[in-house]
Amino acid sequence: MTTITVAVAVAVGLLVGPWLRTAIFAKRLPRCDPARRHCPGCSRLVLASGPFGIVAPVALSGRCPSCRWRIGAPPAVIEVVSAGLLGLLALRVHPLLVLAALGVVGAAGIVLGSIDATTRRLPDAILAPTLVVVVSLLVVAGIADHRPAHLIGALIGGAAAFAGYSLLVLVTAGLGFGDCKLAGLLGLVLGWFGWEPLIAGVTLGFLLAALYLLTRLLAGRFSRSERIALGPFMLVGAFAVLLVAA
Ligand SMILES: [Zn+2]
Repeated sequence: MTTITVAVAVAVGLLVGPWLRTAIFAKRLPRCDPARRHCPGCSRLVLASGPFGIVAPVALSGRCPSCRWRIGAPPAVIEVVSAGLLGLLALRVHPLLVLAALGVVGAAGIVLGSIDATTRRLPDAILAPTLVVVVSLLVVAGIADHRPAHLIGALIGGAAAFAGYSLLVLVTAGLGFGDCKLAGLLGLVLGWFGWEPLIAGVTLGFLLAALYLLTRLLAGRFSRSERIALGPFMLVGAFAVLLVAA
């Protein structure tokens, strides 16, 4: 990948950062409620909407302009994570359409991981459009770049990861259906690169979650009733493998 591609990816990451911040604020809710628009501290409208939907991002400072209530991550955190991830993907992933698909999963992953970590929810409002865009990009990439085997691998990988997690949901209490849908999304992009990255990405997610639980156990902070959000670990595991395997 050229330096220009990486520079463009970093710039896109910085530019979409405020919108990822906005999506996290709007959907980080304990239930499946409509998107949040008001500051929880003073009820001031912090997400103004215009004729094309939401037009202004939430305060980049991460605090309500009126009451200084924390309404998002500290300044630049989301933007730097987004720019860094897209830049790393641009260094490693090609062709361009596959890079775009992984970029979309990465950007959505930042939003989904942030929401899941605090609410243990993975909203369909973010998962569903991401899935549609990613499948479309991979189908076009598979046809345009004559990579039918990669495309079939992606579709089977997505289906297999979704099915595997669905089975786990049936036998364990700690997982939700959102985890299955996220697994399907990650299975798609991992499966594009083959079975080994798929298995490695899924396994690494579980290992990271287990390591986190073990750390809490050793620190004496673990309680039997505790349930952790698996989404952030699934995302980190998948992207670590993607950056190595791509
Ligand atoms: Zn406020």
